[in-house]
Amino acid sequence: MNPLRLLCLLLLLITTAVAQNPTPSPTPPLLKPDERLKVDVLLIVAHPDDETGVVPYLVLLIDQKKHVAVVYTTHGEAGHNNMGPERAQSLGAVREMELRHALASVGIDNVWFLSGRDTPSQNILESLANWHQGQVEEELVRMVRLTRPEVIITWMPGFFVGENHGDHQGAGVLATEAFDTAGDPTVFPAQLAGPVKVNETLLDGLQPWQAKKLYYFPDSADDIFKGTGPIYQTNGMAKALKIPYWRAGFETFKYHLTQYRNFIERMKGMDEKQVAEQEKNWGGEGSFVFGKSLVGGSVTGDVFEGITAKPIAFVPVAREAYAQPAALSVELGGPWGFYEHFFRAHGITKLPRAKGPEIAIKRGATLTIPLELHNHNDAAKNITIALKLPEGWTTQSGLGNLSLDPQSDYYWQVLVDAPKPETKERQEIECTASAEGKTLATIRISVQLRNGGLPQN
Ligand SMILES: [Zn+2]
Repeated sequence: MNPLRLLCLLLLLITTAVAQNPTPSPTPPLLKPDERLKVDVLLIVAHPDDETGVVPYLVLLIDQKKHVAVVYTTHGEAGHNNMGPERAQSLGAVREMELRHALASVGIDNVWFLSGRDTPSQNILESLANWHQGQVEEELVRMVRLTRPEVIITWMPGFFVGENHGDHQGAGVLATEAFDTAGDPTVFPAQLAGPVKVNETLLDGLQPWQAKKLYYFPDSADDIFKGTGPIYQTNGMAKALKIPYWRAGFETFKYHLTQYRNFIERMKGMDEKQVAEQEKNWGGEGSFVFGKSLVGGSVTGDVFEGITAKPIAFVPVAREAYAQPAALSVELGGPWGFYEHFFRAHGITKLPRAKGPEIAIKRGATLTIPLELHNHNDAAKNITIALKLPEGWTTQSGLGNLSLDPQSDYYWQVLVDAPKPETKERQEIECTASAEGKTLATIRISVQLRNGGLPQN
């Protein structure tokens, strides 16, 4: 046999043998969700430093061997920098570093930042727009599915006289959305698809997750929040840190130097006695506002009342039907109008509410009253917008007669200028809309004038 034929025969024998005894590819291991990520409480806030008031509670939970994680929807990059010239996205990077150092100092390592941008206004709708709402919502739902929290704690959604930061409200609004949707297999389904390639880059491989309870904390010191949720004490001694719980908030705050350098330098200059005296400012009772529970428990009962280790199934929010609005109607729009729909959509209509629309603005600033005008008649209609103003206020624009086309909806705004002199009392702005001798709407906005603070828009 010539050598070439012999070689061919040998190769044929080898390949036949291999074909008859294929080496099985190894069975990939079955992997469960990463246990390092599973938490009992997920805190969802907007900016580095928003955690300060809740840190004592998180440290309390860590002492109880519970797991906590924090998600920030922005980097807080819109503020000033007291440490250097770094601004904008670079300031955001610095604030992320400060925050990570702060939380690591009390044992909180699982911290995530989303892609929302810091929005310095009181208008929740501007924050949502600046965050490309759907994008941050998708990121937040992913974080809930990754961390599988039993409880979500977040900023109170709502429009109140207080700091009333639109981003704080935005964190609360999207956290509520994420609570209600992360368990829904039809919401962001690519997150819930198993990998189909060895190096999968599109499908997340997560599972739906239904958190059990939702709690809020307000951006306002109003009495309406008292007794609307559980309270906890911050004067106990933290086991691992060996400092009182309230002091964990005080200590983490010291890392936010870009924001509060002078104040922090004074804090750092305090001796032990002076620090102990700070309990009057930083200590006392902490509290939350009860948002919703899918496992029972009472409004003021412990956060973990009713919670067991067993996961629960997705609970869709029951929605009421909407009534048909009057054919000719005028409503307060903007953030005030949005919240009317939001609370209903999420079944949280029993949350503490302001008595009526309210806002704090800077003395001498312009107040915007956003209106929505509807004419669902087959004929054009004339309406009249009028104002009743307290002394010192002046109308800038938006009053008089308006002609609404048949079957039309419009946005409209009335602008009024606040007086500059200081006034302690709240002031009431009354805006009325009338047509054909009848009042269609009377909108009363309670306004507090202050020396500074965030603009309305
Ligand atoms: Zn903030």
